[in-house]
Amino acid sequence: MVRLCQVAALAGLVMVLVLALSVEGHAALASAGGWPLAIGRVSAFSGSYLLLVMVILTARLPWLERSVGQDRLVRWHRAIAPYAVSLVSLHVLSVILGYSQMLHRSVFTMLWSFWVNYPDILSATVGFGLLLMAAFTSIRIARSQMKYETWWVVHLYTYLGLGLAFMHQIRTGVMFLGHPHTIQFWTVLWVGTGLTILFLRLGVPLVRNQQYRLRVASVTQEAPNVYSLTVTGKNIKKMAVSGGQFFQWRFMSKGLFWHSHPYSLSALPRPPFLRVTVKGVGDQSSAIAHLKPGTRVFVEGPYGVFTHHATSMNNVTLVAAGVGITPIRAMLEDLPAASNVTVIIRATRPEDVVHGAEMRSLVTAREGRYFELLGSRDEVNLDAHTLGQLVPDIAANDIFVCGPAGFTEGVVAAARRLGVPHAHVHHESFTF
Ligand SMILES: Cc1cc2nc3c(=O)[nH]c(=O)nc-3n(C[C@H](O)[C@H](O)[C@H](O)COP(=O)(O)OP(=O)(O)OC[C@H]3O[C@@H](n4cnc5c(N)ncnc54)[C@H](O)[C@@H]3O)c2cc1C
Repeated sequence: MVRLCQVAALAGLVMVLVLALSVEGHAALASAGGWPLAIGRVSAFSGSYLLLVMVILTARLPWLERSVGQDRLVRWHRAIAPYAVSLVSLHVLSVILGYSQMLHRSVFTMLWSFWVNYPDILSATVGFGLLLMAAFTSIRIARSQMKYETWWVVHLYTYLGLGLAFMHQIRTGVMFLGHPHTIQFWTVLWVGTGLTILFLRLGVPLVRNQQYRLRVASVTQEAPNVYSLTVTGKNIKKMAVSGGQFFQWRFMSKGLFWHSHPYSLSALPRPPFLRVTVKGVGDQSSAIAHLKPGTRVFVEGPYGVFTHHATSMNNVTLVAAGVGITPIRAMLEDLPAASNVTVIIRATRPEDVVHGAEMRSLVTAREGRYFELLGSRDEVNLDAHTLGQLVPDIAANDIFVCGPAGFTEGVVAAARRLGVPHAHVHHESFTF
């Protein structure tokens, strides 16, 4: 499926390039400003196509989420972004340059003339500004300085930016002038994508939450700074969710309404209850400890491919550190009865092991193996040597890892060193 998506996206790009190049001719290229204008047209078409692909990747298309996984889709979205923004920027610069050469005007006079004579270009300029704002705030160093919500709101404005830029594409783009079929194709593509996003990101969640009517049932402390939140609702039985998946959670209480954050279920649904277990690291996650029973809860999901559906072996090793135990705990419950299970939990102190008793009893019921590695990072390291000792047949296992980034990377590297094939190593990251 991953290959198929990549091939489809690439085929679309080739088609767009062919379409853009088909309107170029020797005479136009040879005239004043011909080359910059041609570059401007090709970069516009390909850049906006890439923007469309980026939007589709985060549109929460259910089949795409199920087969590729949200974290990978977000990684792709991020990997494409610099190309898309660079191409659109190249378009802006080369079109201004091209027309100023063609009409023998200064670049600034040309820009002014565009703004005052072409309202579509004025709104496209505003759209371009919004796009640049999203791009700059997504640069790692800038993003680390701002709250997630600020970054998210700025990102939301890119939808407005894309909308503002659309009309100038079809009304002033040479590839569209006199080509009604190209206009129809491009309009269907963009409007279709916009409607799909409205439907999937607004319509579906609103309808589902109306059915679920979730409310906070209780909040329980599990470990220092870690709380389990149980919510209750209706029609939970109808939720098609696998152990290891996560939802986006929004709590309808003062100050939290604007926050929507991902948390994995820490147990399979027990209708009418759902449970998540959350470590307080920032505004929203810390506020969960103080939620009052009865608070209305709004969820989006389930998302994620960190589930037993990814297994291809009968032997399964589950490795967790810290609050990374949540999807592992739910998956342990959901694995097929025939799976041979090994569970390895990493924590600094015994009291930091979240849901330890539940994990032990689930492993015992499956006659599996359970290890707790306790101690500081310097004392206890889950390297290839330790992993090989704990699970001698590790190469014949599917291995699922969830924990802090450094820990996860270390375990993944250890598993690979011990001969676990790439396709059998699965990991979940708690940051996108
Ligand atoms: C797929 C997934 C599953 C997760 N499951 C759990 C879980 O079961 N239990 C748990 O305690 N934590 C989980 N997390 C982490 C949790 O989402 C963050 O700790 C939480 O969002 C922090 O929000 P905050 O407002 O408290 O802190 P902030 O200060 O806003 O954020 C702290 C950091 O968390 C990350 N983050 C914040 N919001 C989001 C978001 N909406 N999407 C992606 N990353 C974000 C950012 O990297 C940010 O730097 C999960 C994360 C992901 C991506």
